[in-house]
Amino acid sequence: VNTDIAIIGAGPAGVATACASMAAGAAVVLIDDSSTTRRPVRLDEALAPAVRRRLTALGLEAALDDREVARSTGVRGRWGTADIERSFLFDPNGDGFVVDRWRFDRRLRTLATRLGLPVLVDTARGLTRSGDRWQIELGRQAGTVAARWVVDATGRAAWVGRRLGARPCHDDRLVAVVGTGRLARRVARVTMVEAIEAGWWYAFGSDDSRATAALVTDADLARAGGYRSPAVWRSELARTSLLGPALAGFELDGMPSVVPCGNVRLDQPCGPGWLAVGDAAVAHDPLAGSGVVRALDSGIEAATVLAAAAGRRDVLDRYHESCRERFATHLARSAAFHRREPRWPGSPYWARRAGTGQLVT
Ligand SMILES: Cc1cc2nc3c(=O)[nH]c(=O)nc-3n(C[C@H](O)[C@H](O)[C@H](O)COP(=O)(O)OP(=O)(O)OC[C@H]3O[C@@H](n4cnc5c(N)ncnc54)[C@H](O)[C@@H]3O)c2cc1C
Repeated sequence: VNTDIAIIGAGPAGVATACASMAAGAAVVLIDDSSTTRRPVRLDEALAPAVRRRLTALGLEAALDDREVARSTGVRGRWGTADIERSFLFDPNGDGFVVDRWRFDRRLRTLATRLGLPVLVDTARGLTRSGDRWQIELGRQAGTVAARWVVDATGRAAWVGRRLGARPCHDDRLVAVVGTGRLARRVARVTMVEAIEAGWWYAFGSDDSRATAALVTDADLARAGGYRSPAVWRSELARTSLLGPALAGFELDGMPSVVPCGNVRLDQPCGPGWLAVGDAAVAHDPLAGSGVVRALDSGIEAATVLAAAAGRRDVLDRYHESCRERFATHLARSAAFHRREPRWPGSPYWARRAGTGQLVT
């Protein structure tokens, strides 16, 4: 296969880059391995209301027209001295959504294919450059894709960037200890957030019978606390004052999963003939709950860079700066939000965020 732009990874960032680049007239190929692997454990995510507008701009709005996509009407939280109550009632974008990410991503790819995008279901295994063209070796079909540009949309793996010598800069070592399961009774259609001594929890219902809940903390504290044990996880949840009562009787599907979710960016998000988008370039903690919207935005921005960058170093330099700025802005907001929680100055989690402990251990 010979193309202008080869995009490795077809999550929201890869699909957005592909659709926006195709709309700008480029020949694009998407390569994604997720359909070659077994369906992972079901992980649901709450999508901010703004997702609909982004998907509409890309011609992908139908991804939300699915009987399994639930509505989310706001955010409710207990953090610091004040409770948080944010309704989407007056949000110009309307409600938010709760989606099964595996299913949502599969729908995005199907819709992208219908728009005329070739999606190769395969794993990128090798990457070489000769002259001004890349050769991407595929795993399963043992073929190659030749392209002028390669886009790293592989999520936190940052497979392309790391191969090309870029290094991930971690700001912390956050993990989410995520449990999914059955509800004993219906919960309000909101995302719940609650600070605890060891970090914070989030939870939301996917429908009337299922929910996702996660304890977010530093990796070393998660290990030391033994939070992956279902008994410990359940008892920590039961001790919370907002989530615990709302999720009373919650029945875990199995062991909670430990998923890295810290703030990290590539020191070099682009270079001659390549750039990284979405989580591959800049990944945030899930506090703002806007990873998918950011991934779509990042893909839309990348498409404009790709259209303008041929032979222009300044365009890539600006993109690099834009990634650095996005990361710094999120860190500043996250730090300010953490400062609103004064209750446990002696706990390692909060002390690290107050600047009296090492965030990256
Ligand atoms: C615990 C946790 C909870 C979160 N909760 C939310 C939430 O509630 N709401 C929200 O908006 N965001 C949430 N996020 C963030 C959100 O998941 C990410 O920001 C978003 O998925 C980033 O999209 P992406 O397209 O950059 O990467 P991804 O979605 O990670 O997609 C990367 C794709 O690349 C493919 N790939 C990787 N390597 C290769 C290879 N070598 N060859 C071919 N394909 C490859 C993968 O299979 C995958 O399909 C959460 C994140 C975490 C960790």
